[in-house]
Amino acid sequence: MRYALVNGTKAEPAPRLSGLCGSCGAVMVAKCGQHKLWHWAHKSRIHCDPWWEPETDWHRAWKNHFPAEWQEVVHFDPTSHEKHVADVKTAHGKVVEFQHSPMKPEELKSREAFYVDMVWVVDGTRGFDASYFNMGLGQRVDTEGSPTVFPFQWYGPSKLIKIWHTATCPVFLDFGYEKHVWRLLFYDPLKKRGVVGPIGRDELVSDLTDGTPLARIRSGADPA
Ligand SMILES: [Zn+2]
Repeated sequence: MRYALVNGTKAEPAPRLSGLCGSCGAVMVAKCGQHKLWHWAHKSRIHCDPWWEPETDWHRAWKNHFPAEWQEVVHFDPTSHEKHVADVKTAHGKVVEFQHSPMKPEELKSREAFYVDMVWVVDGTRGFDASYFNMGLGQRVDTEGSPTVFPFQWYGPSKLIKIWHTATCPVFLDFGYEKHVWRLLFYDPLKKRGVVGPIGRDELVSDLTDGTPLARIRSGADPA
């Protein structure tokens, strides 16, 4: 994790520092090595949140767009007593999860059910996923009064799109484009064809920051 509680305050790791997990209260040890990102780890070596994935530069770069107090926010369900750490929870109550590793459909469903008001930002630069996306990306479609969309054919062997199209919350695929990410709008897993809409990285961050609806791109519509 990026933060632990040191004297009751959220703190980043520093050599020889110890702290407490903001979620479970266990002792955390600062890991300040040369190869991995500096982070906090549970002294017991077992993370209290089974949904937590080791952070990459990609996670940190995204999280850095948001204030520290919105990062790694503990979310508690008083009915089920379930507790998880959201990557980002905005002041408007929306959870943003940055997902680098492949995800099982069951976990995707559980996480959406737990957070309810959330969006996914998915790392599409693993393996050859971005190359396959570029290969299958079609010509832009401009319809008057509607946002620009692009059809695509998925040639990749990975389950990236197949998994993420089952999400009910908005999914933004980060294929490493400098200016924008792609909102996944529609996908037919049999034909392996779908539709994506570009949205500026800055736009996405400012919409989330301001709490404005992410309505610039049609959601879930089949433009065919
Ligand atoms: Zn913990």
